[in-house]
Amino acid sequence: MINAIQQIEEKIQEIKNQMLALGPMHPGSISKQYHVCGQPGCRCKAATKPQRHGPYCKLRYVHQGKQVCRFVRPQWLEELASQLEVYKTFKSLTNQWIALSIQRARLAFFDASDKKLLPHAPATTKNATRNRKSKPQS
Ligand SMILES: [Zn+2]
Repeated sequence: MINAIQQIEEKIQEIKNQMLALGPMHPGSISKQYHVCGQPGCRCKAATKPQRHGPYCKLRYVHQGKQVCRFVRPQWLEELASQLEVYKTFKSLTNQWIALSIQRARLAFFDASDKKLLPHAPATTKNATRNRKSKPQS
């Protein structure tokens, strides 16, 4: 079991090393938008084949529960796109680290051979309580 924990710790160390190597990052995604302006007779309002203005690139992300939206200048698009990729890598490494930590805790603190999970804590919402059928305890 100690050996298995050591193996997990080595994997975690490898993830930490990969995280240290990450460059600048940013959360979110970039989307393209086309606009229709207010000028009469503009090409964006043509009856046939209207050509809307754009594309304008928009960055959207959520941070601490707050959604943020910003226009991205064309000259920063490439750099920002690569930072979004770095962020994805960061998230993936973080998830792997968490998964390994859970695995490690199972070996260290819990009986790994016991596959049975503890029942969930009773739901606190009224609906969940009302809909709950009493199940026979096994
Ligand atoms: Zn227009």
